[in-house]
Amino acid sequence: MENVVILGAGPAGCTAGLYTARANLNPLILEGEPSGSILPGGQLMTTTEVENFPGYPEGVSGQQLMADLKKQAERFGARFEYKTATAVNSKTYPFTVLVGEEKIETKSIIIATGASAKYLGLPAEQKFLNRGVSACATCDGALPRFRNKPVVVVGGGDSAMEEALFLSRFAERVHVIHRRDKFRASKIMADRVLAHPKIVVEWNSVVEDILGNDKDGVTGVLIKNVQTSETFQLPCSGYFCAIGHKPNTDLFKGVLELDEQGYIITKPNRTATNIEGIFACGDVQDSYYRQAITAAGSGCMAGIEATRWLESRE
Ligand code: NAP
Repeated sequence: MENVVILGAGPAGCTAGLYTARANLNPLILEGEPSGSILPGGQLMTTTEVENFPGYPEGVSGQQLMADLKKQAERFGARFEYKTATAVNSKTYPFTVLVGEEKIETKSIIIATGASAKYLGLPAEQKFLNRGVSACATCDGALPRFRNKPVVVVGGGDSAMEEALFLSRFAERVHVIHRRDKFRASKIMADRVLAHPKIVVEWNSVVEDILGNDKDGVTGVLIKNVQTSETFQLPCSGYFCAIGHKPNTDLFKGVLELDEQGYIITKPNRTATNIEGIFACGDVQDSYYRQAITAAGSGCMAGIEATRWLESRE
């Protein structure tokens, strides 16, 4: 019988692991499989340089940061396994986490399965990932390859507006490519974008392909106007896809309370879910901040809450 099973090993899961390990709970962390939909290490594994995680004044690669967080949790006894939970039974106590045929019984569960950025599905998005393709301007926008160069942002929601405004600090010009003639974004964000001298909008337009080569990565995009069917090439050094995120909560539909976008609902300023003994932290319950440091912070909260909840039962 486990004291606590943590699902996911991004900054939230690793920090929850660190705190529960230091509370002598010997946590088991199911970090997913390298080929699965939930990446071991989370979204940071597909980020290049992380410059906004406190404690790394020179910046750190996403992979190094995750390796450090994992090592720190392991130092106190957290156990990591490359496994993906396939079902969670919360109807009977102790809870059961299934990994295929394997059944893991546990007194508490911390969910830290994160969210995945949505992409258009173009093969070139995968080919040029981290070489000009990104879904996180806050993570990658300040990198030298984007400075004083044109970049494109795809999408018309608040995320796209935020990405475009952030990128406008570094890029020579930001082209927002939106498939309709009206933004979905809130008026205030849309107005800021429309008034910005460095941002231009390509309305009624979609990205047909990303252009580039092995040496330089992304060098441009092929744009199609959906009304006229005309296409043209737009040179750029970066392609930022900002068409939304999908929380990794398929497993919890019908098990936990989710909001309309699929994020796990936690108690205000807490990580407790609607089921006592099940906690959620990081991007799986946060559609607003979505930062490595906020995920780590809520992982700490979940670790403390799970520890106190277990203590209160003994
Ligand atoms: P969103 O509101 O769902 O917007 C997604 C955008 O991407 C839409 O404009 C959509 O176009 C476009 N899109 C979706 N699929 C596409 C496809 N296959 N090809 C081309 N375009 C596609 O997602 P979001 O912007 O990530 O925002 C999610 C939630 O978080 C919202 O509630 C938002 O307000 C909130 N948020 C708030 C802030 C803030 O307040 N600072 C920042 C970020 C996010 P259509 O418009 O044509 O559907």
